[in-house]
Amino acid sequence: MTVEEVVEKDEKIDSKEFLEELKQVDEKYNLMREIKNGEKSHGELEKIPFVVKDAIATEGVTTSAGSKILEDYRPVFDATVVKRLKKSGAQFFGKTEQDEFGFGTFSTNNAFTTPKNPHDEERVVGGSSGGAGAVVAAMDKPLISIGESTGGSITNPAAYNGVVGITPTYGRVSRYGLVDYANSLDKIGVLAENVYGAAKGLEVIAGHDENDQTTAEKKVPEYSDLEKKQDLKVGVPKQYLELEGLEEGVKENFEESLEKLEETGAEVEKVDMPLLSADYAVPSYYVLAMAEASTNLAKMSGIRYGLEMDPENFEDFNEYFSEVRSEGFGEEAKRRILLGTYTRMAGYRDQYYIKAAEVRQKIINQYKEAFEEFDVLLSPSMPNIAPKIEEAESMDPAEIYAMDTLTVGPNLAGLPMISVPNGKSEGMPTGLHIVGDHFEEKKILDVAYSYRR
Ligand code: GLN
Repeated sequence: MTVEEVVEKDEKIDSKEFLEELKQVDEKYNLMREIKNGEKSHGELEKIPFVVKDAIATEGVTTSAGSKILEDYRPVFDATVVKRLKKSGAQFFGKTEQDEFGFGTFSTNNAFTTPKNPHDEERVVGGSSGGAGAVVAAMDKPLISIGESTGGSITNPAAYNGVVGITPTYGRVSRYGLVDYANSLDKIGVLAENVYGAAKGLEVIAGHDENDQTTAEKKVPEYSDLEKKQDLKVGVPKQYLELEGLEEGVKENFEESLEKLEETGAEVEKVDMPLLSADYAVPSYYVLAMAEASTNLAKMSGIRYGLEMDPENFEDFNEYFSEVRSEGFGEEAKRRILLGTYTRMAGYRDQYYIKAAEVRQKIINQYKEAFEEFDVLLSPSMPNIAPKIEEAESMDPAEIYAMDTLTVGPNLAGLPMISVPNGKSEGMPTGLHIVGDHFEEKKILDVAYSYRR
């Protein structure tokens, strides 16, 4: 059964059976922070189950963003995306595991557990919306899974778990109720088993929200009215094919997909986009993302937000904050607070933060130029298949950051992107990444749909 069959053909998903299966899947792969049996309501998406990344506020239900410092946080409100899904009749089934505050690529930076990939339990689920991607792959029954991407956290787990994931244009979907990672980069999007499911989910959550003034007032098209696309002009950033660490199997699958597209009449051309290489996009992204993250985390001090301790046990508030933050944050969060603070300090700001912002603008310009010529830009979604958990845990941070090369570029530019399953390598799924110009979600969904057909 698919989301489409439930919506269009009125098939029914038994919610008790769904809940049972979800519990079993979670027991096996550690994908859920909390499982709920949500209330039923009426609407177009009636009986479609949905789950939500733990960094997105859900009334009365854990919203810990993978962090010990928010372990007991239960918001008094629903994020706009959650509210909209509930209103559409979709039924809420709980929160998915992730990297702490979105800081990671494998969901191994999680304070509570290590999620496992349903295709191979020894491997990671990807990140940071890792639970969100893996649960779609692990469940037999269809569902809509809400994720969030700052630098690739939706299309990465989509690729590693062999599902579809769409990250919309910045400002297309409300961030109201999101535990911010980096406000100028964060985007909420959808993971689902196929293109229709992702399109339907996006259709429900997208659109202007008076609680988020960065949302666009543009009308939301009928994304799920998928059409076949022909005569496409497809660009392939040359720098991506020369990427160090691009695995042979992933490259082969990608090249085959280009051949298939050419057979169906697409015109495929390599395009020189020097700023998308690991030397520019990755450092620019990490400097900006960490700078913003370090300011966002300042509020986690055990006063309004964060782990509470008994103030009586401390000399003064500096000591109190310091203890709360030392206890509550994981290693990667601490690294990012330190680096992010450093890059925006007087004396270093010009050298790091300002320079990274300038590179970002140049990257945006480069994309704008490319989209004058091409309908979409294609690449593999991730340079590799999901690594083994053991391997991932022994990698150094710089090595892990470099794996984001294919996804940080479009994220810096606020562009919409989608990952669709694109064959396997060593038995593990790989993804095809389709990037479009701003607000061209419909086009990338159509291309994704045509390609899967
Ligand atoms: N891996 C990237 C990071 O750690 C992306 C994470 C994300 O998109 N939330 O910043």
